[in-house]
Formats: sequence, structure tokens, C-alpha cells
Amino acid sequence: MKQKIGVYICHCGTNIAATVDCEGLARFAETLPGVKVARDYRYLCSDPGQDLIKNDIRDLSIDRVVVAACSPRMHEVTFRNAVSSEGLNPYFLNIANVREQCSWVHKDREKATDKAKQILRAAVARVLRQEALTARKVEIKPSALVVGAGIAGIQASLTMANEGMKVALIERAPYIGGHMAQLDKTFPTLDCASCIFTPKTVEVARNKNIELFICSDVLEVKGHVGNFRVTIKKHPTYVDFNRCTGCGDCVEACVLKKGMPSEFEESMARRRAIYIAFPQAVPLKAVVDKESCLLLSKGKCKKSCVKACKAEAINFEQKEEVVEREVGSIILATGYDLYDPHLLPQYGYGLYENVITNLQFERLASPSGPTRGEVLLKDGAVPKGIAFLHCIGSRDENANLYCSRVCCMASMKQAHLAKEKTGAEIYEFYIDINAFGKGYQEFYKRVREEGIYFIRGKGSEIFKRDGRLVVAAEDTMLGTPVEIPVDMVVLGTGLTARHDAEKVAQVLGISQSADRFFMEAHPKLRPVATNVDGIFLAGCCQGPKDIPDTVAHASAAAAEAMSLSAQGEIEVEPTTATINPDLCAGCKLCIEICPYSAIDFLDAKGISVVNEALCKGCGACTAICPSKAASQNHFTQDQVLSEVEGLCSH
Ligand SMILES: Cc1cc2nc3c(=O)[nH]c(=O)nc-3n(C[C@H](O)[C@H](O)[C@H](O)COP(=O)(O)OP(=O)(O)OC[C@H]3O[C@@H](n4cnc5c(N)ncnc54)[C@H](O)[C@@H]3O)c2cc1C
Repeated sequence: MKQKIGVYICHCGTNIAATVDCEGLARFAETLPGVKVARDYRYLCSDPGQDLIKNDIRDLSIDRVVVAACSPRMHEVTFRNAVSSEGLNPYFLNIANVREQCSWVHKDREKATDKAKQILRAAVARVLRQEALTARKVEIKPSALVVGAGIAGIQASLTMANEGMKVALIERAPYIGGHMAQLDKTFPTLDCASCIFTPKTVEVARNKNIELFICSDVLEVKGHVGNFRVTIKKHPTYVDFNRCTGCGDCVEACVLKKGMPSEFEESMARRRAIYIAFPQAVPLKAVVDKESCLLLSKGKCKKSCVKACKAEAINFEQKEEVVEREVGSIILATGYDLYDPHLLPQYGYGLYENVITNLQFERLASPSGPTRGEVLLKDGAVPKGIAFLHCIGSRDENANLYCSRVCCMASMKQAHLAKEKTGAEIYEFYIDINAFGKGYQEFYKRVREEGIYFIRGKGSEIFKRDGRLVVAAEDTMLGTPVEIPVDMVVLGTGLTARHDAEKVAQVLGISQSADRFFMEAHPKLRPVATNVDGIFLAGCCQGPKDIPDTVAHASAAAAEAMSLSAQGEIEVEPTTATINPDLCAGCKLCIEICPYSAIDFLDAKGISVVNEALCKGCGACTAICPSKAASQNHFTQDQVLSEVEGLCSH
């Protein structure tokens, strides 16, 4: 059958028309094979513009459409809808990008018009070979998985659960809350972190729609948007949570008196082998650390904890459990790690006992911390001088280039608390102050007025002289080197992606940015979506954020998951790959290269097959297949080559 192509050229105001002769382009289009009608119009995406196309489909029996306009990322969906509203298959449309790839990047009108003709000729050649495709519909399960129970994961879970969605919340630590649980007061309002936070953790534990998995990891994720099957590994805690009352008798009885450095206290205190992370922990249950428990690691212990437990909750026979859940969407909220200051030895972290990180300072300042909120040196004395060093591991070519965003504010908050608690001389060494949030600049002004010394210059080294620590820096305001003796140094350590971010990204099939944080689908327009439909990001796992931004990001991720769930079913693009069984040589190269694990090998037949539900149509298998068995709907070799020939011919 001979096709009848309609070609429509958009002026895009003057965006295209100022550089490309749109009327001339339309006249040129009329000469191309198969073209029945060619028109140009000021704004094709407007209703009257779309009506031109619809009328021609109806009145002139146009059965292929080429729109020469902006990038298909802008309006392909708009024109597909216009085409299909007249009963034409939406995949009989092709977009010739004559704006971003032509008018915007050229000045010479004649040459730009010539290039536009080439682009148009290629698009017309291709549309002749396009085939009708039908989008599949998939059902969406009205449930979600949230990985990580810091403030981001908690906010996302509660938002969804309160709207009636079932949520499986996975946390690998023995308590929920993440880093926020470790903070003392929060900038800029200085309200106590646990006062705003504990009600939320308690609400999670009580909410009937939230199934909480503590000490757990995600092992495997299979499936696709709307239908993910997740395998969760529950590590043994050796305590039956249904029986444990959180009384702490077992902790007192544990024979490991010297203990291990407490993870929650950032090694500022020690814990036993059986322990409750902190008094307000949710869930308030004891857990056994396999590595430090004498019975589990060495097989030798009198089991005093078992004897002390009146609830008979301790069970050393407990085994690892693997459970599966089916969910419609996934929200990743795995947060951040603190930059490891051992990597910058000039600051003496690990060498001098009174050089600590900003998170360690949070624990010192906290009333529930190891010193009950007193800011003290290791020997118990009150410091007379404290230095806060900004940008440790951030904005540094030898560490991370990016700004960690929260450390300036955290340092100033801590300077305020240190002054209040000790009356010491306080110094802030900074490059410049990042006080970006609501009320942050005002807080900076307030701290300056409290008599804290701000020295503009990054601390370059810490050494000891006459029993005191000395911070060396260059004061860039005075233009001279300075050496300030103090008793305590707090390193403003930056935020980094989690140490296992690569592994998590691999399990979920999502991408990471150059800084290793998980990558959003679009930095401005889709900041919570990922490259995998149905998987969203919340909080610091996407990049450093303060609490307000984390909460807003998590709420947005929850809203995306809820709107997906509300649709009931969604259409999946049919531009997936196929493998011709007659041509497949069974080399498995496609299986190795597929980033979505969408290709299986049929041992019995010795060939590869595409799982359409998982395929994202990236084309990697098509490019690598040596026997040309793999091909991709809407991007077949025939279609792509016809476009290339169209570009090359004159
Ligand atoms: C010293 C310091 C002070 C700060 N003070 C303030 C302040 O005063 N005000 C403010 O607004 N912000 C402050 N912040 C920033 C604040 O800590 C973050 O905004 C907030 O904690 C981010 O929360 P999150 O949930 O994204 O990440 P996190 O708190 O890191 O939580 C992530 C959770 O995911 C879990 N997890 C990680 N990987 C996995 C996995 N693979 N499987 C299961 N679970 C996993 C973790 O155990 C953790 O519970 C401060 C930061 C620092 C370093």
C-alpha cells in the first residue's frame, strides 16, 4: 500500500522561523516521496496547530505524520495523542528536531534551512518504514517498599501508610531514625531533634499499614513498575521481639564488660554484646551482635543474659530468614555516610584524641549521649578553646569536589552549643558560609554576634604544641598565616554516598552520578524519579540535604508512588527489544550487556529471549548482537538505516 504522509513544520514563534525558512521547508517537503501534504504553522503544539494534523488525517486520509519542531522529549507525547485521537497508530508519527539540533545551534539562515531539509528528508524516509505498535497495560500493586528508615524513609512511609497504602519498611540498623536520631538540637531553630522526631518513630511502630523489617537488607528485586517482587533478608537478632520488653536486664548481665565501640554513639562510648542502641530506640528491643558475643563468636559463655531475661526472649537458635513481598513501587531512602577523616591525615583524626567529627560532637552535646550533654575533653576537663573546621572532605580536589550543604550550618549550630555549654573561646575556620535555607542567614548573624571568631581560611593542618592542639590556616582576610592553639577540634566532615551504594544500585538497576549518590531521572524536572520506572529516591541518598529538604523530597517521592498506585494500571512503552530465535547463535553477549537483567537464556533451545516486562528498550543488546538476531521495536535496522540514508542523500 502506498503511504500518505503529512508533514507539519512548526515556526515555534521565532525560535525556528528566525533561522530556518519554514515556508520553504514546507515546499521542499512536498517534493519528497510519499508526502501528500505539507504545512507550516506558528505554534504546532497549540490546539489549532494540532487540529491541522487531525483534520488532514480525517479529510485527506493521511496515514503517516512527520512533525518538524522541537526535540521529541518536549512534545512527542502531545503529537502522539493528537494522531491517535483520529484513530491512527501513535507510532506512525516521527519528529524531526529542527529546533535544538538546527535553528538553536546555527546562525546562517541559508545553511540552517539546508540542514533542516536534510533532517526532514531523513524523518520522512524513516516514517515510511515505521510499524504500528501497541502499548501494553500493566496492573499496579497498591503497595510500596521503602529501603532505609531515616527521616526520609519514615516520612515517605507515613505519608503513604496514612493514605491507606501498604508499606514494607526495611532498615538494616537495629533501630529506625538514621542520622537524625543521633542529633542533639537542629539548626536554625535549635529545637531538640528527638522531640520532633520521636513521635514519628513511634507512629511508624504503631501504624497498621507499615510492616517494619529491622536488621534487614534487600537481597533481590525482580519485576517492573507496578509489579516488583522483592526478596528481603532478615538477619538474626537472637532476641524474640514479641517477648522482649526492652527492660535492659540482659544488657546489665552481659559478661563483655569492656564492650565494643558503640555505633550509635560514634565510638564515644562502648556497648555490650547484647545491647539496646539508645534509650528512646524504636523498636525498644535488645539485639545481639554476632561478632562480639562470646557464645556466637567463640562458643564460650555462661549465657548470663539468658538467665537474666525474665521474658525468656533470648534465642541463640534464631536463624537468618528470607521473605518476599510484592509491591507496586520502591522508594530508596538509604541516606549518607560521613566522610572518613582518616583519609586526610593532616587533621590528626585518630592520632589526637580531642580531634573529633561533627557527628561525634552531636553525641557529646546530646543529653542522652556519653557525657549527658556536657562538652568535655577525653580526660573529663572542660575545653577552654574549641575550633570548628569547615569543608573537611568537601569542596576539596583531594576528596569530594561538591559542597555537602549542611556542614556550615551544623558547625555554626555546634559553635553556639559549645559556647553555651563551656564558655570557651570558639573559632570557625571557613572558606565561605553556605547558609542557604529559610532562617539560615539570620542564624549565621546571631552566632557571629555571640562572640564566636570567624576566620576566613580553611584549616590546613593540626599539630600539637605545649600539650595543646594547634590549628594552622591562612587568614585570607588578613592575608597572613595563623596558628590558633585550642583544646578540641571539631572536623566539619562532609556527607558522602553510602559505602555500599554501588551494590544497592546494582540490585535495583538504577544509576549513580559521578559523586556516587543515586541519580535522579532529571536534575530539575524529575528530582525524585530514577531511570527505572516505579523506583523513586528520597533524602540524602540522592545528594546531601538538610532535614527540611529531606522531608520535602521524601514527601514528593511518596506522592509519586501514591499517584502511580492510584492509576491502577499503566501503559508500558512497546519499544522493547526482540530476539529472532532463527538467528540467535546463543553467544549470551546480550545477557551480559543488558543493564536491566531483561534477557534470559533458554538452555533447552540454546537461545536468548527478552523478558518484555523488564526490557527498557535501551538498545544495548541490539548493538552488541553479532548475528543481528536482536532488534528493537521502533528502532529496527531498516528504520535507522533509512534515516541515515535520508540524511546523506542530496
Ligand atoms: C553533624 C551533622 C549535623 C546535622 N545537623 C542538622 C540540623 O541541625 N538540621 C538539619 O536540617 N540537618 C542536619 N543534618 C543533616 C541531617 O542529618 C540529614 O538531613 C538527615 O539525617 C537525612 O536523612 P536521610 O533519611 O536521608 O538519611 P539517613 O539519616 O542517613 O538515614 C538513612 C537510613 O537508611 C538506612 N540504610 C542505609 N542503607 C541501607 C540498606 N542498604 N538497607 C536498609 N537500610 C539502609 C540507614 O541505616 C539509615 O537508618 C546534620 C548532618 C550532620 C552530619
